[in-house]
Amino acid sequence: MKLNSIAIDGPAGAGKSTIARKVAEQLGFIYVDTGAMYRAMALFMEQNHVEPSDQDAVSRACRRADISIAYQDGAQVTLLDGVNVNAMIRTEQISRMASVFSANGDVRKRLVELQQKLAQETPVVMDGRDIGTVVLPDAVCKIYLTASVRVRAERRLKEDLARGTQTTLTELEQEIAERDERDCHRAISPLRQADDAVLLDTSELTIGEVTDRILACYRNAAASAGLTI
Ligand code: C5P
Repeated sequence: MKLNSIAIDGPAGAGKSTIARKVAEQLGFIYVDTGAMYRAMALFMEQNHVEPSDQDAVSRACRRADISIAYQDGAQVTLLDGVNVNAMIRTEQISRMASVFSANGDVRKRLVELQQKLAQETPVVMDGRDIGTVVLPDAVCKIYLTASVRVRAERRLKEDLARGTQTTLTELEQEIAERDERDCHRAISPLRQADDAVLLDTSELTIGEVTDRILACYRNAAASAGLTI
């Protein structure tokens, strides 16, 4: 039985969150940004001075992290111990630490359970690295979004500048390439395209074009699976 949800995976800066949010809006689904949960976990580890190299300490600490999500005016609010941490989890430092701590199996187990529970309650558009392969293997529509490292770094640079963060294109290209390397080569749930996912390279496409392609893909898949849409 197919799950009436959309799984979107891909590397950092491929446009997943922008696109997933738009697709969810169009369909009236809930958008779940799983990267924000890994970021909140990294913040928790940082606040509790947990060393990423001490895997036992990471495994113990992640059980104490109270991470949840809520929605305010349709936007996801990520809560750590009940506190909205949205404004604290978008730094380059947290991006890197999220990628490092997310390689721990206990961290993943904890957050995957939460994500699966959310998708059981309501149709979702969920984005991340392992959604089509591990979290929602029965999702009716799976998309793998990608773009060149240069294009992804340019997008990040625009976002950083808008936030007033000082970075350079070279720094961002390096940071993205390092994160790709770690996310694609970790032992547990590495980033990869699910066998039944549709590949979309967004380098030369507008947000509207990508959104429309995903909506068409979802409608076809849902009709084939006999789901009411
Ligand atoms: O998507 P975002 O850039 O916010 O994710 C931050 C980091 O969290 C990623 O680099 C990745 O290491 C990790 N992540 C993950 N699995 C997910 C979502 C994010 O491992 N489903």
